[in-house]
Amino acid sequence: MKPEFVYFDLDNTLLDHTSAEEAAHEEIYQTYPDLQKVTLEAWLQTYKEINGELWLKYQKGEVDRHELHYSRFSDSMAILGIRNGHSEEIGANYMQIYRKHWHWVEGAKEALESVAERYPVGFITNGFQETQRKKIEYLGLDKFSDIFIISEEIGVMKPHPKVFDQATEKSHTERNRILYVGDSYSSDIIGGRNAGWRTAWYTAFMDEIDENRTADFIFDEFPSLVNYLNS
Ligand SMILES: [Mg+2]
Repeated sequence: MKPEFVYFDLDNTLLDHTSAEEAAHEEIYQTYPDLQKVTLEAWLQTYKEINGELWLKYQKGEVDRHELHYSRFSDSMAILGIRNGHSEEIGANYMQIYRKHWHWVEGAKEALESVAERYPVGFITNGFQETQRKKIEYLGLDKFSDIFIISEEIGVMKPHPKVFDQATEKSHTERNRILYVGDSYSSDIIGGRNAGWRTAWYTAFMDEIDENRTADFIFDEFPSLVNYLNS
């Protein structure tokens, strides 16, 4: 059965968040010599762990957006024994630099253009309204749809059913005729499946794939998605 509506995730599905994040950290690392007490790899690894934990806390409402933006730097520095009182400044600078490094995931633009010719599309993203709106603008996604579901605007994050319920309503499509394309198994694939949608899992950003994890379609190159939807 063909889908009648296709939703796309944003980060690491259409926009290469990981490369932008890493490039921004390299710049931050060069700008603040205090950080160079440890290797860039050690810094990034610690930051990613702390950032992941803070996002979980944010999801539970235990920290707010502002705290998340500087605590991921101050907490990482504390763990690595780096004394620096500028975490708020570094956090703010990071967001500016991060934006400079945005670009499309390889093949995603062409795939979206092709899919949008044949299907109505929309976008669902976890994240902060201000940043995600800027990403939408940068990618020019408003050419393709006016349906954008941003978690901060709803007050809960994927895989929360409220996100998918609202997206279902906006699509005016039966649940089992909606396909969700995303890279996160826990947020996108589980969330979509629980909502009664179909799912296409983009795995190019994964180091390894657990074979017990399934989706209606699994792909690591965008032309495969286009073939799947156009066949
Ligand atoms: Mg994603």
